[in-house]
This record gives sequence, structure tokens and C-alpha cells, in this order.
Amino acid sequence: IGNAVIVTGGAGFIGSHTAKLLAGRGFQPVVYDNLSTGHRAAVRWGDLIEGDILDTPKLIDALEEYRPVAVVHFAASAYVGESVKEPGKYYRNNVEGTLSLLDACRMAGIPRVIFSSSCATYGIPDHLPVREQDAQCPINPYGRTKLIAEQMLADYWAAYDLRYVSLRYFNACGADLDGELGETHDPETHLIPRALMAAAGTIHSLEIYGGDYDTPDGTCIRDYIHVVDLARAHVLAVEWLAGGGSNLSVNLGTGHGTSVREILRAIGRLTGRAVPFVMRDRREGDPPVLYADPALAAKTLGFETACSDLDTIIRTAAPFFGLEPRT
Ligand code: UDP
Repeated sequence: IGNAVIVTGGAGFIGSHTAKLLAGRGFQPVVYDNLSTGHRAAVRWGDLIEGDILDTPKLIDALEEYRPVAVVHFAASAYVGESVKEPGKYYRNNVEGTLSLLDACRMAGIPRVIFSSSCATYGIPDHLPVREQDAQCPINPYGRTKLIAEQMLADYWAAYDLRYVSLRYFNACGADLDGELGETHDPETHLIPRALMAAAGTIHSLEIYGGDYDTPDGTCIRDYIHVVDLARAHVLAVEWLAGGGSNLSVNLGTGHGTSVREILRAIGRLTGRAVPFVMRDRREGDPPVLYADPALAAKTLGFETACSDLDTIIRTAAPFFGLEPRT
């Protein structure tokens, strides 16, 4: 087995952090990205192949050229709201795109794939903390496309022995600990970047989507996991598959939840800037409370979070929004 790893979507937020950590562990990351939402400047730890995952022949060429030990597959469309308005884009990129990748792997004889899945595959959970064996009933097209891709992986493993790890991310946030990579989505819809933009005065105020939930402070609760922890889990998954592992789906979260108001308070405390906000109606499709049971990732991959405390999340993200965290 060589040491190349193809990283589809490696010019994006989680993909670029993963490429950096792969390089640090002695792998050769090779980013395959169409740069539709990713950034060329984020590809700094290996080659960039500019290509679309729907282009199966181009993928096969890349796989045959590098003969990677595994493919880490991030490339996808990832806005829940957009997926409701433009489901075709999501079924095309996320379902057909993953199918194209799996077929390319099969044809090139590359037998290991790590897949970016999501807690959105659970929908409104019937059990907390969410365990992997709990029902997956997604409530929006984005979550459905991720669930279908997970099911394709299981079927390709059973039929063709294509080995896989599906990583179900909870809320990715934070930024590179050395300040080399940040979160730059356009448009930016995620809570922590938007709250930092409001604190910095880049946007007028943060809209809080609902203060009347049945939670202690009325706002939604999520499991925020630092992008560097997420990235490290991918490296562990590559090593797990290379070591003979075959099929696994695990949650990546911290095991505890944080409310929107708690995020705002932490930003105020750590940056010295209050987050101006307006209270809005609930956003459609938002589960009130979502946090992971992280035990299976610990048991199988040896994965534990190391930098997903709120302080580290906000301190690493703040500089990308023009804020100096307090010392
Ligand atoms: N949220 C909010 N205002 C925003 C963006 C998000 O109140 O401008 C809330 C949202 O309702 C959810 C939480 O923050 O409860 C996290 O939302 P995000 O979009 O970051 O991630 P999601 O949980 O939807 O994947």
C-alpha cells in the first residue's frame, strides 16, 4: 500500500484541515475538487486535481495515477436550506456524485473509502444522546442524500468488498490551531461564524432562530465539534481501514450539547464583544436538541475529542472574522 490519499472536496472547510493532518502523519494528500465552493488557497499540502466527482473517467485516471491507500470523500453540496429549494442539485452531487466515485474506486481497484456523513441523517432523534443504531429518518433532502450515500456504501461493501467508514459529523466549527486555515463559506449560514460576524460588526446582528424551544434557555442545543478533531478522525479512519477494518458508521461529536445562547455568551466573554441579536421564528427542520453518543468512535477508532471545548473553538475561529480573542 502506498501513502497517497485522494481527498475529494479537499479545498473545502473540513477537507482542507484533513489534508493538512494527513500530510503531518506521513500520507500524501491529493485533493480532487471542482473549486465550486472550495478555495484553491486552501490546497497547500499536496497536489490539486481540478475535477468534478461526476466525471467518472477523470476520477479513474486520478485513482490509477496515484493508487491511493484510500479515498476520503468530502465533495458534496451542504446547505440544508438550499437542498429544500434545489433538491436536484443535491441528488446530482451527493447521490450521483458518490455513485460515480464508488464506481471509479471499483473500476480502478481502490478498495477503501471514508465518507462525510451527517447527523442530518437522523432527522428528529428519538433518543438522546444519538446512537448509531438509532433510526435514521432525515427531514430534508440534504439528509436524505447523505443517508442514500451511506446505504450505497454498505451495498458496495457487501457486493464488491469496497471497505468504508461513514463519519456522521455533528456541528463542525473552529479553525486550524496554527491559524493557517479557517471557515470561509459563501454564503455563511452557520451559527458560530455568523455570531462572530455580528460581534465584529460585519453583519448588523445575528438572527436567533427560535427562543421558545423546550430547552433550559429556550434556544436549540447542538453538539459543536472542532474541525481539527473531525479532521483527526479521518486520519484514524484511513489507518483503521489500512489496518484491515472493513465497514463502520460512527458519530463524530463530543457527547454534550451547547445552546445558541451559551455560544453567544462564550463569544462575549472571549472576545470582549457582545453579539447583537434579534429573536426570530424557528427555522424549519431544526431539531430542538441534538448531541452524539461518541462511544462507538472511541471504541473502534480510538477517537476522542481534544480541542472541542468552547474556548478553543471560539479562540481559533475568531481571528478569521477580524476579532482578537482576549488573552
Ligand atoms: N442558528 C441561529 N442563527 C443563525 C444560524 C444558526 O440561531 O444565523 C441556530 C440554528 O437554528 C441551530 C444552531 O444555531 O439551532 C446551529 O445551526 P447551524 O446552521 O450552524 O448548524 P445545523 O445544526 O443546522 O447543522
